[in-house]
Amino acid sequence: MSDGIEVPETITCVDCGETAHRLTPPPEDGWEVGDFVAYRCSGCRDRWDLVVSDPESGGGADTESDFDLRRWLAERDRPNKGED
Ligand SMILES: [Zn+2]
Repeated sequence: MSDGIEVPETITCVDCGETAHRLTPPPEDGWEVGDFVAYRCSGCRDRWDLVVSDPESGGGADTESDFDLRRWLAERDRPNKGED
């Protein structure tokens, strides 16, 4: 089972808040990470080029909160050798 990456047909324009419609037709084998998708805003007529990203990777920003408590404790309990 091969899940294609979902690319929305419309997005919300960050400039004016109107709906931007996709210009790029879906490729025959489906979207792939790194593909460019162009949108045209119906409000300000701006063009938006987005890059398809992997939905499974989660964008990477959220993994920063993965705090390693055990490692932190180990470093904290490290005996102080010598005088500062
Ligand atoms: Zn717009």
